[in-house]
Amino acid sequence: MPIYAYACRACSERLELRASIAEKEAGLAPTCPACGSTPMRQLLTTFATRSSGDPQPASSAPAGAGCCGGGCCGA
Ligand SMILES: [Zn+2]
Repeated sequence: MPIYAYACRACSERLELRASIAEKEAGLAPTCPACGSTPMRQLLTTFATRSSGDPQPASSAPAGAGCCGGGCCGA
């Protein structure tokens, strides 16, 4: 279950909230535990859900080297 971090706009109090995706999409509006201000500003969490070595799609564009680069097979 992902953790969402919020900061209070009024007093900068931080809050970490554990909520399901469904709860998040339904609209989370946490209240500042320190001053009761709402809504709080969502922060980017460092809670990494992606695996290390994020696979980057290899560039499939031809480098222009080889046969087609010289125009010998297209024309
Ligand atoms: Zn506050």
